[in-house]
Amino acid sequence: MDRGEQDKALAQYIRRDVYPYSAFYRARLDESGLRSQVTRRGDLARLRPTVLDEVEDPGTLVLRPEEHTIQRYGEPAVVWKVFWSKLLGRQAALNDGVIDPAYKPVHWHFDAGLPIASSAEDLERLAELGRRWLELAGLTRADHVVGILPPGPNRDYWELVLGCRRAGVSSLHLPPVPSAADLEAANPSVLAGRPDDLSEALMAFRRGRRPLATLHTLLAVGEPLRRDERAHLQTLAGPDVAIVVAWAPPGARALWSECRGGGAGYHTAPDTELVETHQGTGELLWSAIGWKGSVFLRLATGMRANIDESPCPRCRRTSPRVVI
Ligand SMILES: [Zn+2]
Repeated sequence: MDRGEQDKALAQYIRRDVYPYSAFYRARLDESGLRSQVTRRGDLARLRPTVLDEVEDPGTLVLRPEEHTIQRYGEPAVVWKVFWSKLLGRQAALNDGVIDPAYKPVHWHFDAGLPIASSAEDLERLAELGRRWLELAGLTRADHVVGILPPGPNRDYWELVLGCRRAGVSSLHLPPVPSAADLEAANPSVLAGRPDDLSEALMAFRRGRRPLATLHTLLAVGEPLRRDERAHLQTLAGPDVAIVVAWAPPGARALWSECRGGGAGYHTAPDTELVETHQGTGELLWSAIGWKGSVFLRLATGMRANIDESPCPRCRRTSPRVVI
């Protein structure tokens, strides 16, 4: 997706979804004088960044297409659909078949203490982004992933679970610190977990002097790795094991990942997010594109980094990369 296509998707998203159905951003877009009239990413510069701590009621972030918000702010096509369904007594069918799958929060996780809602459509999107993550990391359907991310209401765990399923990759999800025996029995070709947990699991193996014979990739998840941390993991895993790091700031709905080989930054997904740097401070700002449930525009991430929009020197993909 190039810049023009992304501008179009962003404009349509704000006009059709965010302005009509987000109480939080309708007020902010009005306050900035933008209303629903965003035509390109540059227009968003007038919208002040959102700081997570200042969200008093996380419920106001959730898109809610209810009858009065549709009547008042919805696209004419949706208003007509509601009108006709009422006239014909088919409101239940409209809700079940059209509105609920796209908008109804059916899944929640926590991020920086805030509950974040996802609809059924969002879970499909997360699965697809999870599949792309595994593809970036060079996995194939022949792989066997053992996940040791903490199971529970957190984004990274669910992206791994859904991504493996979407990619058709076999997976087993163990607790964050599995026993050496369990890990050996699982015989992973790919081990995915938080860097500290990966380190602990691999050290347990070294103590037992038993190599993980088929291991070829570590997916280090949750934070950017410092050079010394990467070197430490590489020593534990062995020189032939690739380390692929994925993370994203709290509030972003899916992970950013390196491509296999690393060192070229973290690939973002321009069809589902806009990542920009604040002109004044250099801070990364994150905006949703297409996501339903809890929606952020210009979320202040607290991270400073550059965005490189040139083709990746390693994999030649053109998705913008966050380079720290
Ligand atoms: Zn790349």
